[in-house]
Amino acid sequence: MSGLEGNTGPVDPPMDCPDCPRLVAFREELRAVHPDWHNAPVASFTSKAPRLLIIGLAPGMKGANCTGRPFTGDYAGDLLYQTLLEYGFAQGTYLARSDDGLTLCDAMITNAVRCLPPQNKPTGPEIRTCRPYLLSTLAANPSIRAVLALGRIAHETFLSALELRRASFPFAHCAEHDLPGHDMSLFDSYHCSRYNTNTGRLTEDMFRSVFDKIRTRIPEA
Ligand code: SF4
Repeated sequence: MSGLEGNTGPVDPPMDCPDCPRLVAFREELRAVHPDWHNAPVASFTSKAPRLLIIGLAPGMKGANCTGRPFTGDYAGDLLYQTLLEYGFAQGTYLARSDDGLTLCDAMITNAVRCLPPQNKPTGPEIRTCRPYLLSTLAANPSIRAVLALGRIAHETFLSALELRRASFPFAHCAEHDLPGHDMSLFDSYHCSRYNTNTGRLTEDMFRSVFDKIRTRIPEA
């Protein structure tokens, strides 16, 4: 994966990562109110040698920030894990808890920003500060051939991390972009949030159509 070879740092931040003061203050505030929640940077969830990397923007408050596993515990996870199971990218039963025993197959799930941001909106500097973990994750997993960006902001954040021009790769649901200099494709989907599904912006069939395309790029082994 050219351009990533120099990124040999840790793939996951320390649990007490101090680098974004606003997010540190927010997670400490939540820790006082919900001491039983994770309230810390969320590590990627992965199988060995994944070919598919799924990227969200940041943990959800009652999802990953609570359970400690990406997309686990909120509605977005219900649709994502149901679809991963259907397409052979996960095994087991998804019970919306990090100890449900579910495993990924040939897949990894991460967030561009590892800590919960207020109103689900990280700032530009926070996105840039957390970028080294995304780059190290990519560099440490040369098996990745397909990247699925959940939502426009994840799409743009990923392109910026690879120093690719956003205008050359416009976001569109179900789009597939070949990335010059990288042996992988970027796929786009509207975010699988409750809002998007309730409003009909994203249906289950629309989400499946993205995974149909991904399976064309990386057929089931
Ligand atoms: S968002 Fe990333 S860089 Fe910022 S405090 Fe959390 S783990 Fe550290």
